[in-house]
Amino acid sequence: MLIDGHGRNVNYLRISVTERCNFRCQYCMPEKPFSWVPKENLLSFEDLFKFVKVAIDEGIEKIRITGGEPTLRTDLDKFIKMIYNYKNDIDLAMTTNGYLLKESAKKLKDAGLKRINISLDSLKPEIAAKIAGKDVLKNVLDGIEEAMKVGLKIKINMVPLKNVNDSEIVDILEFGKKRGIRVRFIEYMENVHAHSSLKGMHGREILEKIKEKYEIQKVGRIGSSPAFLYQLKNDGYKFGLIDPHKHDFCESCNRIRLTAEGYLIPCLYFDEAMSIKEAVEKGDIEKAVEILKTVLANKPKENRWSEEATEASNRAFYETGG
Ligand code: SAM
Ligand code: SF4
Repeated sequence: MLIDGHGRNVNYLRISVTERCNFRCQYCMPEKPFSWVPKENLLSFEDLFKFVKVAIDEGIEKIRITGGEPTLRTDLDKFIKMIYNYKNDIDLAMTTNGYLLKESAKKLKDAGLKRINISLDSLKPEIAAKIAGKDVLKNVLDGIEEAMKVGLKIKINMVPLKNVNDSEIVDILEFGKKRGIRVRFIEYMENVHAHSSLKGMHGREILEKIKEKYEIQKVGRIGSSPAFLYQLKNDGYKFGLIDPHKHDFCESCNRIRLTAEGYLIPCLYFDEAMSIKEAVEKGDIEKAVEILKTVLANKPKENRWSEEATEASNRAFYETGG
C-alpha cells in the first residue's frame, strides 16, 4: 500500500506516454511548444514498464495511459499488453482525443485496455475545429462509435468555455445519455500554456445550464473519483462534474503522474517532480522504489486552483496528461 504524507492511499498511476499531440486545443496546447522533448529523452516502453512493475508491486491498482495524444505513440498496444500480462486485473484505462480511435480501438481492446475517456467539446464541426485547431469532429465521432463497437467502457470529457461551447452543455449531456455513456464536465484549469483569452465556467454555472432543461439531484463523490456525480430526476441518468477549484477536491486524491521523460509528479498543479529515468535505465529497482516513496511523502495537501484565487499553473497539461 502506498500512503502519502497526508495519509491518503495512492493507488492510481497516470502515465503520459508522449507530450506530442495532433490537436492544438485552446485550453491545453494552442501553439506547438517551442521544442518537443527530443525522442532520445523519452523513456522506452521497456523502461516505463520496469517502473510500472515497481508501482504495481507497491500497491498501484489503476493505470491510465494519457498524453499529449497517447494514440500517436507507436506500439502503444504492445505496452498495454505488457501491463495486462503482468497483472490482468489491473484497472487499465486511457484518455484520448479519439481522433485515431477508429483504426486503433480494437487493437487496444485486444491488448487488454478496459476503459477509455474521450474528449468531446462540441458537436458542431466549426466549434470543434475552433477549439482543437483543425477539423476533428467526424473522426472523433467515428472513434467513439468504434470504441463502443469493440466493447470498451467509455466516458466523455467536456471542458466548457464561456462564449465558445457553453451553449452545448446540454447537447453533450444528451449525446452521452442517448448512448448510455457517462459525461463529465471538467472546469477549465488556468495554466500559462492555454490561450490567454479563455474564460472557463465554474461548476455552478455548468449546473445552471443543465437546470434550464432538467431537474437534477446530487449523488456524491464515489470513492476517490475526481468527479462529483449528479443525476437527472426524470430518468436517473448520471453525469459528473470535475471541479478542482472546490476546496474539498484534493481530500481524496489518490494519484501520481509519470511523464514520458520519466518525471514522477505528485500533483498536477505544482512544478515539483523527480526523475526515475536513470534508475529504470540502469535497472536499479531499489532506487526507483525510493524515488516513488519520496515523491509520495512530498505530495502537496492541495492544489491552488482555489475558488478565491485563480492563479495559473506552469504545468502543461499535455506534459502531465491532465
Ligand atoms: N489528448 C488526450 C485528450 O485530450 O483526451 C489526453 C490528454 S489531455 C491533456 C487529458 C484531459 O485533460 C482531457 O480530458 C482534456 O480535456 C483535459 N484538459 C487539458 N487541458 C485542460 C485545462 N486547461 N483545463 C481542464 N482540463 C484540461
Ligand atoms: Fe492534445 Fe489532449 Fe491537449 Fe487537446 S487536450 S491539445 S487533444 S493533449
